[in-house]
Amino acid sequence: MLTKNYYFTALLLLSLRMLSAQQINPTIPQDWCGTHGYSPWLTWYHDHKAEISSLRNDDSTMLYVPVTMHLVGPDNATSFYEEKDCFRILCELNEQYAPARIYFYFSPGEPFVYHAKSLWYNHDWDGGKDMIESTRIPDRLNCYVVADPAGNCGYSWLDAIVLGTGCSNPGNSTWAHEAGHHFSLPHPFFGWEGHNWTFNQPAPLEWDGYPVEKMDGSNCYDSGDRFCDTRPDYLNYRWNCDAQQFSTVTQKDPDGVVFRSDASLYMSYSLDACASRFTEEQIEAMRTNLFTEHISYLQTFDFGGLVADDAKVTYLSPIDSSIQQYNNIVLEWAPVDNATFYYVEVSTSPYFSVVFSSAFVYDNITSLKITKNIPNNKTMYWRVTPYSEWDVCKSIASLPPAVFKTKNLSATNELERVADISLTPNPVAGGNSVVLGVNSSESIDMMLTINDASGRLCFQKFVEMYSGDNLMNISTDRLEAGLYFVTIQTSKGTLVKRLVVTK
Ligand SMILES: [Zn+2]
Repeated sequence: MLTKNYYFTALLLLSLRMLSAQQINPTIPQDWCGTHGYSPWLTWYHDHKAEISSLRNDDSTMLYVPVTMHLVGPDNATSFYEEKDCFRILCELNEQYAPARIYFYFSPGEPFVYHAKSLWYNHDWDGGKDMIESTRIPDRLNCYVVADPAGNCGYSWLDAIVLGTGCSNPGNSTWAHEAGHHFSLPHPFFGWEGHNWTFNQPAPLEWDGYPVEKMDGSNCYDSGDRFCDTRPDYLNYRWNCDAQQFSTVTQKDPDGVVFRSDASLYMSYSLDACASRFTEEQIEAMRTNLFTEHISYLQTFDFGGLVADDAKVTYLSPIDSSIQQYNNIVLEWAPVDNATFYYVEVSTSPYFSVVFSSAFVYDNITSLKITKNIPNNKTMYWRVTPYSEWDVCKSIASLPPAVFKTKNLSATNELERVADISLTPNPVAGGNSVVLGVNSSESIDMMLTINDASGRLCFQKFVEMYSGDNLMNISTDRLEAGLYFVTIQTSKGTLVKRLVVTK
């Protein structure tokens, strides 16, 4: 049982409240990261460093950050970033922030919030502002996952971070980078964002109104990212590193000293594979930020226990290859100690190489009803992985699956029992093809006939269908708009489906 309490002076919090109204302001789009500028908090931090350090708890205290993931999709809600990937994101963030003793967990009861809004899914800065201001939830890190965050991989703004799905893949460092901005860290190349420069000539003393960081460290607290344990870096575009984790490009500081940028920093623009760390001064600033500007994240919580690493799920039903109606299956399992989420997967393979259905189940519910996407006449494997809000890094490969078989128990003839027959799309726009799908447990010869509403024969063809999945394209070129009857005749019975052709 872990319980955290933190105490601070009212005076300090009062001065911070005035600061937190402002945020880093992104101005230049079409970039890897859309965050530019200094956080006002960072200036305050440098001005009050000594005073704050005496108020802060010791550096070994683990700081727990609650997260709500805002999953944004288009108006028709057809595409959202997947919840299982959100668990992976937090798992990776926790590895990246382990040296900072910062741990991210899902906000209890509100791990995911869905927004179906195309204007936010692919947004410009106005859309991003509208999205954050109308949906941000206080007292936790609000993370938005969208298709296009104003032309960037991600940005940190208005006390939230926004990430693109294309930059949220395994091994990406974008989340660590944007969370770093959220906790006040600037780019090491601060001031150079959005500018062009020929790097083999000495840098000027000032650039864009800010002093340029030198290799001798003389101005390191006033320029660049304002930390002295990060060396100068002017590279404001995505760049690759050498084997020693330095930039392949050399630069010259205002004194003409040649140097390479440190690619190991998450806050630099080095490629994902190059970045692996925050420096001690960056860590101290982020932790102090959490103890001040973002103190409301550090809530007093009863963590409960963690889900045991070797926790085994007891499958209740269906098990032992029992027969299930393929389009009406209820999966049930026994609760696992301390688990609050379950991830359920159904596959035709015991290795889950192809997953036909998957879902997260919350709030201590231990069952899931599935009515679509499960093939008929198949042996199916299902497994459940337990998680909790705190426990975001489960490995699922070792959990043994349960087995059931699918049938069409409501079939009225032998044909429906052995084959699942579909016709898509339906209605179909005239001129487009319609696909006849036959999932059969054995080979069948069939006569396919299409008649119009008045019974006239429009199409007829003999087709051989094999065991497994069969797909056949049927052209509607010669079909007028209207209602048709598609008849499938076999030795095991006949099936008639309606087909609507539109103009
Ligand atoms: Zn950035």
